[in-house]
Amino acid sequence: MRPEVLFPLFAPVTALPGIGKRTAALIAKLAGPRVVDLLWHLPTGIIDRGFSPPIAAAPSGVVATFTARVMEHLPPDRARRPYKVVVSDDSGSLALVYFHARPEYLMRILPVGETRVISGRVEHYGDEIQITHPDHVATPAEAAELPRIEPVYGLTAGLTPKPLAKAVAAALDRAPALGEWIDPAYLAHNHWPDWRAALGAAHAPENEAALEADATARRRLAYDELLANQLALALVRAHMRRRPGRAITGDGGSRRRVRDALPFRLTGAQDRAIGEIEADMAAPARMVRLLQGDVGSGKTIVALMAMLIAVEAGAQAALMAPTELLARQHLGTIAPLAEAAGLRAAVLTGRDKGKARDAMLRDLAGGAIDLLIGTHAVFQKGVQFKTLALAVIDEQHKFGVHQRLDLQAKGKAVDLLVMTATPIPRTLTLTAYGDMEVSRLDEKPAGRRAVHTAVLPLARIDAVTQAVTRAIGRGERVYWVCPLVAESESVDLAAAEDRFADLEQGMAARVGLVHGRMKGPARDRTMAAFAAGDIDLLVATTVVEVGVDVPEATVMVIEHAERFGLAQLHQLRGRIGRGRRESTCLLLYAPPLNQVARARLDILRETEDGFRIAEQDLKLRGAGELLGTRQSGLPEFRLADLVAHGDLLDAARDDVKMIHDRDPDLETPRGTALRTLLYLFERDAAISYLRSG
Ligand code: ADP
Ligand code: MG
Repeated sequence: MRPEVLFPLFAPVTALPGIGKRTAALIAKLAGPRVVDLLWHLPTGIIDRGFSPPIAAAPSGVVATFTARVMEHLPPDRARRPYKVVVSDDSGSLALVYFHARPEYLMRILPVGETRVISGRVEHYGDEIQITHPDHVATPAEAAELPRIEPVYGLTAGLTPKPLAKAVAAALDRAPALGEWIDPAYLAHNHWPDWRAALGAAHAPENEAALEADATARRRLAYDELLANQLALALVRAHMRRRPGRAITGDGGSRRRVRDALPFRLTGAQDRAIGEIEADMAAPARMVRLLQGDVGSGKTIVALMAMLIAVEAGAQAALMAPTELLARQHLGTIAPLAEAAGLRAAVLTGRDKGKARDAMLRDLAGGAIDLLIGTHAVFQKGVQFKTLALAVIDEQHKFGVHQRLDLQAKGKAVDLLVMTATPIPRTLTLTAYGDMEVSRLDEKPAGRRAVHTAVLPLARIDAVTQAVTRAIGRGERVYWVCPLVAESESVDLAAAEDRFADLEQGMAARVGLVHGRMKGPARDRTMAAFAAGDIDLLVATTVVEVGVDVPEATVMVIEHAERFGLAQLHQLRGRIGRGRRESTCLLLYAPPLNQVARARLDILRETEDGFRIAEQDLKLRGAGELLGTRQSGLPEFRLADLVAHGDLLDAARDDVKMIHDRDPDLETPRGTALRTLLYLFERDAAISYLRSG
């Protein structure tokens, strides 16, 4: 249960004085619906009210503050004209301009003959110096109370700065004093203020530097968030490890026979990963390991080796793939190798029904089937193993931490190996998979040919079609990917159809088209024709099906490459360079490219290493955009910036290790504060994994 001290922060923003339904809806859209969301909405700029030149010397476009005498009120002479109030100092006069004015109100705040302090953005309008709707009009006594520097917040249409600033101030007033969760020595070493003071300082920047990610207050708040993230993941991991596992070691016989049957040698990275898995499985604790490797890095063999350990130990293993197609493809790889080792592999998907399925399930329950490969169907009710010791899941990013836990609950002491091809940078791995050990396949199998990549403006399309024609003349095949405009599938389709028509007309080639609106079988037929060589040039709208393997394809043209994510471009490029011949990837862009866009495309030219690409992309764009945070299952941070605060993430991870050693159940006073921290950052689920929940 959330501690009471945090209740005010998790109240809706309507609980704040002066915030009605309408403003609350706008704030919800901008920052979030609760008081705490306002706390995390940090300023993006400052206004310095300290600039007070003589009126006549005030430059246009800057915010200035004047002390001036009110000279006269000029009500509009015609409808829809503004109301003006003229004020002046020794140097000249200034017109305060009000649209839709309420004269009584203006008379009250700007009485003729009185001195007022006025602040706002100066504009020169012909000969006149103006401020339209001043930000402040105050008596000299009131003005002495105003802060010289004001924070500027990001806004949304319909929400003006004043009510938002008021709401943030009210939220800050409600921020309670909380027990310190940061290690005192670390806090002192960094000269960090306590949580509430840091929050106050982050919302009251004294200069531009205070807005930077490396400002003291911001670093403290970022650390809080990262600490909550790392602690939550560590608690989940500890919980899983406490559940009984079993030590599994085999005699190595099956593994040896499979190795002997392989037409290639394993890479160093594959051997390393297998070694790590062997050690995990041999330990009595339950294995929870992530196997990360780029497309084509050879994850399947590593998975098979892990599965063989289970079988050598007299148990069974299962491999789950995200689609029917991939499940059958895995079976195609694994079954002959399993046979070479005298083992039996079978496949189970939603499509398997009736008597064959029943017979298969009997063999599975009886232990006659050693390796089961399938889709989600593998974990349905009614599917019983004799003794399942290892579950392998392909394509991690479709599953969250909780599904992983559910899945494990299906078996007793089942070791878990999760495989992903998503090249997640090291820094992000830690935040997303801090609860898993990670093995990386960072080495490509030998004999792969490099893909030559060029970046060209769309205007060079003639050169591109010539290159394509030459490749087709040599008997090679070509992918042509048309841009993806998320807003409208029909526009995408029209662009692809136009391109298809152009190419079909303009080239002596057999051209095919696949797009997202086609029915599965029609798309499969076209893909099959391309694979068989009955089509030379395949125009595609969205992503060319994952897993298609056409070794004769040597050219990949991508139009409007600047609109794709780098990871996506990298995956697309992975469709070529699979055969013996030189391959070329042509990235076409529409000028002008800004610097970041240019640098992003250049990364692809420089490297084929998916991890390096992802890491560089992270540096250029920040984490949120990298993979489309939501769909990739990566956490989103409100205060931490993984590029700027990478060092804090490392520190948080080390700190969590120490906490785990000294106070695993968070029972000391600092432990209590850490529980509050978890609630503050809404890692409530993690708390339930504490033994003393
Ligand atoms: P992914 O990591 O994308 O799942 P796969 O396991 O499908 O990669 O392997 C891609 C291809 O590389 C397969 O044809 C596989 O047989 C082959 N392969 C795997 N390991 C090696 C190796 N060490 N040497 C040569 N080829 C390999
Ligand atoms: Mg694979």
